[in-house]
Amino acid sequence: MSGMRSLLDLTPDELSAWLAEQGEPGYRARQIEAWLARGVLDPTAMTDLPKRLRAQLKAEFSPPLRRVARSDASDGVRKYAFELQTGANAGRRIEAVWIPERDRGTVCVSTQVGCVYRCPFCHTGTLGFGGNLRASEIIAQVLHIKRDLVEDPPERPWRGEVTHVVFMGMGEPLANFEAVCRSIAWLLEKLRISRRRITVSTSGLVPQIRRLGERVPVNLAISLHAATDALRNELVPVNRTWPLARLRAALDAFPLGKQRHITLEYVLLDGINDRDEDIEALIAFANSERERVNLIPFNPWPGAPYA
Ligand code: SF4
Repeated sequence: MSGMRSLLDLTPDELSAWLAEQGEPGYRARQIEAWLARGVLDPTAMTDLPKRLRAQLKAEFSPPLRRVARSDASDGVRKYAFELQTGANAGRRIEAVWIPERDRGTVCVSTQVGCVYRCPFCHTGTLGFGGNLRASEIIAQVLHIKRDLVEDPPERPWRGEVTHVVFMGMGEPLANFEAVCRSIAWLLEKLRISRRRITVSTSGLVPQIRRLGERVPVNLAISLHAATDALRNELVPVNRTWPLARLRAALDAFPLGKQRHITLEYVLLDGINDRDEDIEALIAFANSERERVNLIPFNPWPGAPYA
């Protein structure tokens, strides 16, 4: 399985070329892409394709991941664990979350297996780094959840759809820049999710923030968590490379459309970053015309160094 590719790995030209090699007409590509956009990744379920073609697809391509667990919370949130099926990451596990609200359904995707940055408040940082996800592995998280919501719809009042995607799961999205940009392009084109409904969260990789703004200016969220370099060097180690002054310049240059803002994420750690002087520094750092602060209660995990 690890040597196999996913259909989602193919560009439209590559899919057309593969179909031509099999002697299939060009319109088969549109049929396959329509199934993929509906979250059907298993070729045997693509019932308007000839049986022979389905068998050929099955022999050559595999879904990029399979679900190994789903847990449902009382507030409607669904947490998914996936095992990667193809390529260099085969056998590794990642997580994604579906978060329902009355008027929207948000999928939070992982972009890496683990993370290199080791922010001490973050459980993912304790897992070490296992590798970058391919674009197909990011897209497949969204598609799997989209399909699951059709096959097992949530109870009212939740809207059983994927209307928003946030790149805030395992990993630092901007450290996997190309795959993240490719997956965003796919979501924009194939699922018709607008740029306003896609958010990339970063711990503050300044050069990539600039590149993201130039290439695909979706919503931006910053894992800030401290507004002085001394404290942020501890809580968000990437700050040692890209300190707050460099981050400030990148945020000021990031393109924002009308009525859009950058979100500054700030996890409250008791006695660490919630003292009066910390909040004063936060107020001084934030640009209230372009940025909104999101204060988040700390969610302890076993062995966490904070309460
Ligand atoms: S960069 Fe993000 S995922 Fe990585 S350790 Fe820090 S908070 Fe966690």
